[in-house]
Amino acid sequence: MKTILLNNGVEMPLVGYGVFQVAPAECERCVLDAIATGYRLIDTAQAYYNEEGVGRAIARCGVPRSELFLTTKVWISNSGDGPAARSIDESLRRLRTDYIDLLLIHQPFGDYYGTYRAMEQALQAGKVRAIGLSNFYDARFVDLAENMGVKPAVLQLETHVYSQQARMRRLMEDYGTRLMAWGPLAQGMNGFFDDPALKAIGAKYGKSVAQVALKFLTDEGIAVIPKSVRRERMAENLGLDGFELSAGDRDALRRMDTGHPLAADFNDPALARYLLGYDRQFNPARQ
Ligand code: NAD
Repeated sequence: MKTILLNNGVEMPLVGYGVFQVAPAECERCVLDAIATGYRLIDTAQAYYNEEGVGRAIARCGVPRSELFLTTKVWISNSGDGPAARSIDESLRRLRTDYIDLLLIHQPFGDYYGTYRAMEQALQAGKVRAIGLSNFYDARFVDLAENMGVKPAVLQLETHVYSQQARMRRLMEDYGTRLMAWGPLAQGMNGFFDDPALKAIGAKYGKSVAQVALKFLTDEGIAVIPKSVRRERMAENLGLDGFELSAGDRDALRRMDTGHPLAADFNDPALARYLLGYDRQFNPARQ
């Protein structure tokens, strides 16, 4: 398993398994399958409501905790110093572990300064090995990175062949922050799995569209966390060794970048309103 070094010296697998929209009841089986397939990084979040399933799987999988890399994320409704600190302890309990390898602020909304302070304290207390952000763009990313003592180790952004985050990657270099791609298969949007250009490149190497796209991103040093509930696809998405994309093919893949995300525009007020109310569907008591 290839790894990369984060800006605080922590080693992180380059390929992981994401569990967004994996139903709580199915999550344990999926994570057990993923670990048996060879994944060592598991990406979950408080707002996925499946941390317990991840916790049950890591307790049962037979792989030592020290060989696994667990990422979770603090949700907006837990933002602020006190609520974030409490939510980190709740995540630890649900994940059945005494440390989280990578803890991210999930969304750039709410009192994320307070959340980051709580994460820095969790880092000092040994509850977390690395901290970072998700969905922070441009000036908001710089503001937090400049003002906080601990530079974000990772920034998770929507990243795939159609949205390669060139601008953000240049900005992140100033802080040694590594990019982790969410939606690395473009969530299947834009006809991704039938994209003729991706298929043609794959045909040259006997590889699938997913493998070409993930290979391209990891060759660029971008960590990827593809999701599938199907074991054969989990294995496919991990099968990135034993072939090298030619320079010409890499150039062609670079030219597929539109410069814009497909799924989520974080300057869109409607998206902000949606995300601010997101967890009411799971917890109607929350205002
Ligand atoms: P993805 O790009 O990984 O695509 C997943 C979709 O592709 C699923 O419908 C799956 O069935 C299909 N698929 C997977 N492998 C395939 C294959 N080999 N062949 C054909 N179809 C295949 O999208 P995602 O799940 O949204 O993103 C991956 C992970 O990123 C998530 O599970 C989650 O952990 C994380 N994520 C984070 C954020 C964030 O805000 N930080 C947002 C979305 C996702």
